[in-house]
Amino acid sequence: MSSKILIIEDEEKIARFIELELGYEGYTTTKAFDGRTGLELAETGEFDLVLLDVMLPKLSGMEVLRRIRRTSAVPIIMLTARDSVVDKVSGLDSGASDYITKPFAIEELLARIRTALRKTKQEDGVLSASGLLLDTGRHMVTMQGKSIELTKREFDLLHYLLKNKGLVVSREALLEHVWGFDFAGETNAVDVYVRFLRGKIDEVFDIKLIHTVRGVGYVIKDEK
Ligand code: CA
Repeated sequence: MSSKILIIEDEEKIARFIELELGYEGYTTTKAFDGRTGLELAETGEFDLVLLDVMLPKLSGMEVLRRIRRTSAVPIIMLTARDSVVDKVSGLDSGASDYITKPFAIEELLARIRTALRKTKQEDGVLSASGLLLDTGRHMVTMQGKSIELTKREFDLLHYLLKNKGLVVSREALLEHVWGFDFAGETNAVDVYVRFLRGKIDEVFDIKLIHTVRGVGYVIKDEK
C-alpha cells in the first residue's frame, strides 16, 4: 500500500511540483494551500507523513505543527525559507521530524521522506501482549487469529498502552496522548474507554489484558 502524504504549501506551483514528483515515486498525495485546511486534513489521521511549509496564510506552519502534535506522532517535515535558523530550531523543538530548506533538490526531499517513513515503521510495526496483536500499519487488532473491531479512540488507547507495555500509565497521560490536551472533559473518559476495551477483549477472550493500578492508572502486561 502506498504511503499517503499531505502537502501543506501555499505556493501552488511548488505544491504541484512536489505532488507530481511524489506521484512518480508511488506516493498518494493531498494538497492544502493554507494552514487551517492543512490542519483539518492532518487531524483526520489518514496521512503517513506531512510536508509543512512554515509561512502559510490563515494559520502559520509552526502553529499547525504544534496543534498536530497535540494528538498525533505523524512524521512532519518542515519546509523552511533559506537561512531561517530560528524556524529550524523552534520547528524541531515543537516536534518536527526534520526540515528542508527551500529551494531544495527533489532528490533531497525524497531521501528525507524515505528516512522519516522508515523510522515510523521501526517504531511502530506490530505490537503485542498476551497473544493480542496490534498492527499499526494495517490498523488491525487480532486475538487468536480473530479480528477485533475497535473505534478510532479505542484503537489509539490500546495502541498507547501497548507501546508502554509493562509501564503504569496515568489517566492524565492517557488523556494527553490519546485525547489531546485540548480535551475538556473528565478523566473518567479514560475509565469508560478502558471498560469498552475490556468488553471487546478481556471478556470475549477470557484474559486479563488491561490491569487497573488503583489511584494511578492502567497497565498492559503479558500474561504469564
Ligand atoms: Ca509559504
